[in-house]
Amino acid sequence: MKTEFSLAQLADPDIAEADKILRACVHCGFCTATCPTYVLLGDELDSPRGRIYLIKEMLEKDRPPTTEVVKHIDRCLSCLACMTTCPSGVNYMHLVDQARVRIERDYSRPLTERALRTVLAWVLPRPALFRASMILARLGRPFVGLLPTPKTAAATPTLLGRIKAMLELAPGRLPSPGPAGGSVFQAVGTRRGRVALLQGCAQQVLAPRINQAAINLLTRHGIEVVLVKDEQCCGALTHHLGRDGDALARARANVTVWQREAEQDGLDAILVTASGCGTVIKEYGFMLREDHEFARPAARISALAKDITEYLAGIELAPSRQRGDVTIAYHSACSLQHGQKITHAPKDLLSKNGFVVKDVPESHLCCGSAGTYNILQPDIASRLRDRKIANIATVEPDMIAAGNIGCMVQIAGGTSVPVVHTIELLDWATGGPKPGLTDRD
Ligand code: SF4
Ligand code: SF4
Repeated sequence: MKTEFSLAQLADPDIAEADKILRACVHCGFCTATCPTYVLLGDELDSPRGRIYLIKEMLEKDRPPTTEVVKHIDRCLSCLACMTTCPSGVNYMHLVDQARVRIERDYSRPLTERALRTVLAWVLPRPALFRASMILARLGRPFVGLLPTPKTAAATPTLLGRIKAMLELAPGRLPSPGPAGGSVFQAVGTRRGRVALLQGCAQQVLAPRINQAAINLLTRHGIEVVLVKDEQCCGALTHHLGRDGDALARARANVTVWQREAEQDGLDAILVTASGCGTVIKEYGFMLREDHEFARPAARISALAKDITEYLAGIELAPSRQRGDVTIAYHSACSLQHGQKITHAPKDLLSKNGFVVKDVPESHLCCGSAGTYNILQPDIASRLRDRKIANIATVEPDMIAAGNIGCMVQIAGGTSVPVVHTIELLDWATGGPKPGLTDRD
């Protein structure tokens, strides 16, 4: 695609990056076929190609974003299916991230929308606040039926529709908190390795059983696990809201504490059980590339970050106890398959450990979770969830496995089939307890 940025504009490293990305796009439109919003809404401006054009216009003309541009960028899930499909290697992720920052900086949203986004950005990354908000949401759940259901994919979903979506996502009960930062779990027998395990923010409130299963499995296989003290939310949630100041501050704080841990006691890897977080931590090196103090340490931390299944694929697990009579529908989280390009490892691990693994039709399409998307765009999100659940039902699973808490909560909201994390199944197969029902129940 031809671009016309001025030399002065190109002096800005972000614009220079955008220019490189835009020039790689040949406007072929292959990406439209796998874009969930284009598949649902059929509007070119809700496709990757349409959004790329809108972003180009906004950046090139250096104009404040219009309501129309904001509408179509807000509808993007950042699922990155378009990046998997694109034959020209267009880095849509870096482009849309930049657009979101520009919108956050230069566009004045209606007051209620600004307030809601501020609350989400403040509450979700703080586990204590998030826990308190979930308790409040449980009190509000009996009144969900009184709130109106939107009839169409509105340009701007209503505040009531968003509140309804939030209440519907709240779990029926909250589990007890998991172990605190600073805890170290010794390897059983001879130590074969030492890893940090990301504690996460929403996940540690909604499903501490996920990291518990990871700790159980890893220590049983000779890996020492540390929950690094003073670690923060990875920044993914605020990054996707365009609040880069917050996201970068969190990235710097995490780089500092993980680097300290690696230098003091050694770390073979920083393991992540929520793939949405893993995708952003692997981006720390890029996000902090212009920061003279943090650029190199951030790149080292990104290189250490691994999805839990990526790490387990490289070690020998204990013989499986499974007999092959449990059918698993494997839901491939977008952040794992498109963001991190991890497609085979989770399924191979499950198959090798005795599960019957079924691919879900249209597995490239997002379930509608996408960070805060299911709250901010509840109508599109629920249509995507219903489509995902209908596809899952065709393989008649005993359980659904996923590697991302956001997807797990989203899918569990529309099915009675138990939704578990891949690591819970692997822990079960190699000596741990059978995973229970989801924490929504
Ligand atoms: S597939 Fe890639 S090159 Fe083609 S229109 Fe989409 S982003 Fe551009
Ligand atoms: S990130 Fe997902 S929703 Fe956004 S343009 Fe790409 S495919 Fe479409």
